[in-house]
Amino acid sequence: EIDRQVSHEAPVLAMHHIRHAYGKHQAVEDVSLYVEQGEVVCLLGPSGCGKTTLLRIVAGLETVQEGGVDLGGRPIGRPGKAHVPPEKRNVGLAFQDSALFPHLSVLDNVAFGLESLPGKQRRARAMELLEQLGMEGYAKSYPHTLSGGQQQRVALARALAPAPSLMLLDEPFSSLDARLRDRIRDDTLHVLKRVGAGALLVTHDPEEAMFMADRIALMRDGHIVQMGTPLELYCAPRDPFVVTFFGEVNEMAGEVQGGRVKTPIGEVPVDDIADGTQVRVLIRPEALKIATLDEPPEALSGDGRHGDGDDSHGQHSHVVMAKLLGRSSLLHICAHGADGWEAHLHARVPGVFLPEEGQPVLINLDPSQVFVFPADGAAAGA
Ligand code: ATP
Repeated sequence: EIDRQVSHEAPVLAMHHIRHAYGKHQAVEDVSLYVEQGEVVCLLGPSGCGKTTLLRIVAGLETVQEGGVDLGGRPIGRPGKAHVPPEKRNVGLAFQDSALFPHLSVLDNVAFGLESLPGKQRRARAMELLEQLGMEGYAKSYPHTLSGGQQQRVALARALAPAPSLMLLDEPFSSLDARLRDRIRDDTLHVLKRVGAGALLVTHDPEEAMFMADRIALMRDGHIVQMGTPLELYCAPRDPFVVTFFGEVNEMAGEVQGGRVKTPIGEVPVDDIADGTQVRVLIRPEALKIATLDEPPEALSGDGRHGDGDDSHGQHSHVVMAKLLGRSSLLHICAHGADGWEAHLHARVPGVFLPEEGQPVLINLDPSQVFVFPADGAAAGA
């Protein structure tokens, strides 16, 4: 019943219609998802949307109240039926502050879950994982002598050592500073792909999800709003929440006419929304293409439009503020139109682009970064 693209083998994880409540509080509402072998799926969403609850259900730390969980095609959690305990699930766990055993060396920490192997093989396997995570030089060290990032790598090596078919990662990088986080994300993804384990990763950071995930399940209030590849979520968002979760947007109201919606700063083509529908127009800051004008806009001829760019609407726009953020510049633009219409817009421009305050500008819209939805809340694409 789950719509999978690859169907020859059972997925490493399948969750069917999971619902979960804490007392009267419904934390998860009818969630179904699967993870294929070697696939990284991210549960992404704001705090409290139910991500950790789902992970705990898969790990066996919560019993299944409604729905079902299968690992490799085998039912391991059904309401009222035998509940396979966490240690029998062949699932690796790495949580935000996965505590290492302080009295064991790094090597022994990693070898801990390998008690079924003879001593020599245990150590060899543990060493192999430490090498993959660049930690072989610390095998004899004790956890308290390691940095946070190093401890995180050891925790990951320990979780991966028993070659679990599924890894569960709950905000595993959130306690690391930004530069270290990037590196460890990179290494983690590399190792996950190399060992071919499926992974379910919880994060509230859209960039982390985009980087790590083959597919993202974006959640809100206990249910999945949209599931798809990073590209699908970013470029074909199904609902305004999906657009805004990936960053602040400029929002305007409009009405569809002749398959287009007209905004004071440009027109956008619209599919699948009937003429006459009131719509919300969400414009990513990077959708605004800004060109500075040499002359004040009043000097432009005719209706104020410039050149042949019939989507240029810069006749009364000017820069209010420009800030360099590093790789991009953020501009606040004030756009004025007929009838006293005025809008404050945010634009994001790659590189260093710092026009003076008051500088007149032309705005062009990149329609691929503009999303239109019916104002009544029904989902539809632009
Ligand atoms: P965060 O990103 O903040 O960790 P989350 O998306 O992982 O959030 P959950 O931890 O799954 O969310 O929590 C979902 C909802 O269930 C929240 O409203 C939370 O307050 C509630 N909740 C979680 N655990 C319990 C519990 N043990 N008892 C009661 N309520 C709980």
